[in-house]
Amino acid sequence: MSHELSMQEEMGEKFLDAAARGDLTMVSTLLSQVPSFINHKGYRGWTPLMLAARNGHYHLVEKLLSHGCDRFLVNSSSQTAYDIAKFWGHKHISNLLSQTDVSCQRLLQGSDFDQQENYFSRETLDRMSAKRTDKVWLEAKQSHPDTIYLLFSNLSPMVSSPQDGNDGGETKLCQFKYEVVKDLLQKPATVLVFLGVEKRKNCSSSFSSSQTKGGVQDPAAWFAICTDDDEAELLKRCKQKNCSFPKMPNRDLLKLTEEEAGVVAQARSVLAWHSRYSFCPTCGSSTKLEEGGYKRSCLNLDCRSLRGVHNTCYPRVDPVVIMLVIHPDGNQCLLGRKKVFPSGMFSCLAGFIEPGETIEDAVRREVEEESGVKIGPVQYVSCQPWPMPSNLMIGCLALAISTDIRVDENEIEEARWFTRQQVIDSLFRGESPAFTAPPRQTIAHQLIKHWIGMNSNL
Ligand code: ZN
Ligand code: MG
Repeated sequence: MSHELSMQEEMGEKFLDAAARGDLTMVSTLLSQVPSFINHKGYRGWTPLMLAARNGHYHLVEKLLSHGCDRFLVNSSSQTAYDIAKFWGHKHISNLLSQTDVSCQRLLQGSDFDQQENYFSRETLDRMSAKRTDKVWLEAKQSHPDTIYLLFSNLSPMVSSPQDGNDGGETKLCQFKYEVVKDLLQKPATVLVFLGVEKRKNCSSSFSSSQTKGGVQDPAAWFAICTDDDEAELLKRCKQKNCSFPKMPNRDLLKLTEEEAGVVAQARSVLAWHSRYSFCPTCGSSTKLEEGGYKRSCLNLDCRSLRGVHNTCYPRVDPVVIMLVIHPDGNQCLLGRKKVFPSGMFSCLAGFIEPGETIEDAVRREVEEESGVKIGPVQYVSCQPWPMPSNLMIGCLALAISTDIRVDENEIEEARWFTRQQVIDSLFRGESPAFTAPPRQTIAHQLIKHWIGMNSNL
């Protein structure tokens, strides 16, 4: 066994070496022998695709893509092959890696097709919103043996953490079957939210679906339960070890897989809405849950909210702008730190969008309020659901038209211009970085990385 393992390991190394050299023939030969080598991870988590991208081997990148390699894998510095190609200036390769669908590009001309996927943004489940009003279907799903339940207490999901001393391990959501949680469903204080069903295509191994008798896949439904039962008692329901309800969601919920983070983003935001809006915002009466947990209707029959459509009945999303401000010279960016940040950490400025405000105007107002810097053009980059409790972080680049800094000390402690080199050193852990970057799971980190990959003449 160990002999076989080392053989595999040796061949894997050979494969990575061939990829780094751009040896098409060797890559083809090895791939035909062991197809799984295509996503083989070597030193510091580098894959064949990353090595080919690093060294500018266009045809090899093309070949690996055509064999279905995973272009979204990251190395130990959180770089994808696309990041690497962009960083090393292999533009033809970064273009190739960012291409999604050619016809789509033709229809949306001028768009930047960087497929930036942020943490908490993966749509893991098919939400099946049309089924939320189908009570019969929902009830059948609730008691179905394949159905998965997630347990929340105080808006934190029950998770199992890696064993002590194993920092690399992932935190996993504890999953429950109907039989284990059905007593909780009877309790009046329990909130139940239908999250969706597992997607039929591309089900990853951790989201397997069961087979029905006809051999057709019947995707499992997922629900979230929020209960105020005693946490210690709830933990006894799980067979796994090291289970807990994390107390610091801002930190602890960043250790999930992308799939599970997407589910938590949805579940936590809806549950947070229920916990904060138990009474009718229009008349203050009690409300009842409807539509699989996606609606709260007022029980006062005279209430205005029952006539016409009112958004007070539905879960809320709060838009926040978060922006990386670029110096007029194109080679520095503005980062700030709040008092609550860990020491040395600087991040992008951010703030809530106000009623009647565009994204662009919110960016200009927030930057000027917090730092005194005036902003010209604003460009949208990507967004991120942030379930603390229900923000949508709208990530932008903002071009400064003034450079003097005057911080609003109520909001931030310090704001500074950092050079591109300082940012690169901080992001990729150089010798003595000028600041600590926010964690890779944040859109702030991704915006900074996005800027580094950009040409300095904006
Ligand atoms: Zn009401
Ligand atoms: Mg503000």
